[in-house]
Amino acid sequence: MKQRLSPYRSVLCPVCCMAILLLLPNLNRYAPAAENLFPCPIDLAVVKRYVDNWPQDTGFPDDRYAVAVLKEAIAAANEHNGPIGACLVRQSDGQIVERGRNRQFEPYFRSHAHAEMDLLDRYEARMRVPGPHSGKGNPRKCYEGLALYSTLEPCPMCLTRILNAGISKIYFLAPDESGGMASRTDALPPFWRNMARERVIARAQCSPQLRELALQLFACRGHLRRTCYPQAFKNHPEQKENRRCKHPDHTK
Ligand SMILES: [Zn+2]
Repeated sequence: MKQRLSPYRSVLCPVCCMAILLLLPNLNRYAPAAENLFPCPIDLAVVKRYVDNWPQDTGFPDDRYAVAVLKEAIAAANEHNGPIGACLVRQSDGQIVERGRNRQFEPYFRSHAHAEMDLLDRYEARMRVPGPHSGKGNPRKCYEGLALYSTLEPCPMCLTRILNAGISKIYFLAPDESGGMASRTDALPPFWRNMARERVIARAQCSPQLRELALQLFACRGHLRRTCYPQAFKNHPEQKENRRCKHPDHTK
């Protein structure tokens, strides 16, 4: 006797196949698991290996830039500065044209030297674009077609400078609920608020693991286990366990 097929079998299979086909390009097949990336205190040598070995083909268009800014963040942390990195990307060909990182505290204190400021300082010093009185047009054109990526949501100081520079697209990996301005542009003074409305300001389209790593680096910045300068770090003020880690997974 011929076995009768379930009526669902002929319906579900094409549906499942279609769903799989639709989801396949977005599956982060080769990426490591997202949960509990690194225990606190974060070992920067381990984090560096993790980022250096990040797979090329993850299906997320911004992973390449996320990896670039995370490498800068790790370098900054190893120099005893804030673990934040940034880069400028030429959108026409996807090339990274400048990189920057936080240099606020070392080798000497510079109150403005956030990663984005460092990035823009470097780019402008290299471009040496003449001012408007030179008759050579709008100097902000040197930023035309460039997008800025940062590991962390830009603060008010950096965001207003990025807007003033004329950069049209600003992407960040991790939000900064206590100090970020990119998610609060409606609170800017009218001049800056209107400028912000003409720009794209958003989270980077990168793998969730890289977003999580950017967040962990910043949240656990007082608990980083540095390896490049172990002797200097031994007596460094940040070695003292006086900074409370705010990350929910690292509250011990
Ligand atoms: Zn800043």
